[in-house]
Amino acid sequence: NADMALYAAKAAGRNTYHFFQPIFADQASQRLELELALREAMERQELSLYYQPKVTASDHAFLGFEALLRWNRGEQGFVPPDRFVPVAEDCGLIGQIGGWVLAEACAQIARWHRAGHGWRKIAINVSVRQLVHDDLAGMIRIECERQGISPTLLEVEVTESCVMANPGQTSPILAALRAMGVTVAIDDFGTGHSSLSYLRRLPVDVIKIDRSFVHEAVEDAGAEAIVKTIVNLSKTLGMGVVAEGVETLEQAEMLARMECDVLQGYCFARPMPGDEIERLWRENDATPSALGVAEI
Ligand code: C2E
Ligand code: MG
Ligand code: MG
Ligand code: MG
Repeated sequence: NADMALYAAKAAGRNTYHFFQPIFADQASQRLELELALREAMERQELSLYYQPKVTASDHAFLGFEALLRWNRGEQGFVPPDRFVPVAEDCGLIGQIGGWVLAEACAQIARWHRAGHGWRKIAINVSVRQLVHDDLAGMIRIECERQGISPTLLEVEVTESCVMANPGQTSPILAALRAMGVTVAIDDFGTGHSSLSYLRRLPVDVIKIDRSFVHEAVEDAGAEAIVKTIVNLSKTLGMGVVAEGVETLEQAEMLARMECDVLQGYCFARPMPGDEIERLWRENDATPSALGVAEI
């Protein structure tokens, strides 16, 4: 009640007076404001998914797509996911948002197919909370049935740090997803702390090399060696490998030389709405060289 709140505020004020600096108050209130707005964003349908193609290194053909959340706050513009996803994770909204992402990605696969573009594969990003606390496998089964699509058209991207935080807990969950035919990818690989022995035992199909290594590799011999090692390691372990954040043809050429089979980045295509992807297919017959990308 009001008295208790007042008492708590006074007590907090007394105890924290000396170190409660305005900058913390600002950050806390900004976060709270973001949280409240995010709750409304769901109802106002301000969230959408953009799709970024993954292309073959050999001929830049579209192999599949990564779904990336976008939050359009109207007059305030787009809020980057790196800003609002952590807030959603902390305040417990990520389950609801993640459920919506899954449903929307499945609906998009079905829409593209109905529009005559064939069965296209979509990867969704999944937070550790969703992986551990939600019945992701059950949710995927339900959404796939609802849309009449195969779970083999879905890929789940989990960050390396998320998987490695508690591999004993995450491994069986990832294994269950793979058993249903879902592809499992480790995102931002190289930035976390994987031990090689663990990697070998992880139920994972694909490794995504973090873009920081991709960017540095053309100038820095150390970063180049790391990229080369990750590519070779993936192949030795029988896993697929994707380089993310490929921005220049120089980077693309280097990766192709290293026999990294799949590339993703602004060099080929930015994330875009599903109907813009369709427009590309209609106008260019989906041949990447016709999309203005130079041949390697
Ligand atoms: P991520 O999964 O590693 O996604 C790759 C990020 O790199 C995306 O940023 C993408 O737009 C960006 N990117 C793609 N190509 C290039 C490039 O050539 N250069 C550079 N500099 N960047 C490139 P975005 O869309 O801002 O997403 C940031 C992060 O937010 C994602 O990193 C992912 O961790 C998280 N995220 C996005 N959507 C979702 C979602 O639906 N659920 C969850 N849990 N997290 C999401
Ligand atoms: Mg990702
Ligand atoms: Mg990534
Ligand atoms: Mg990331």
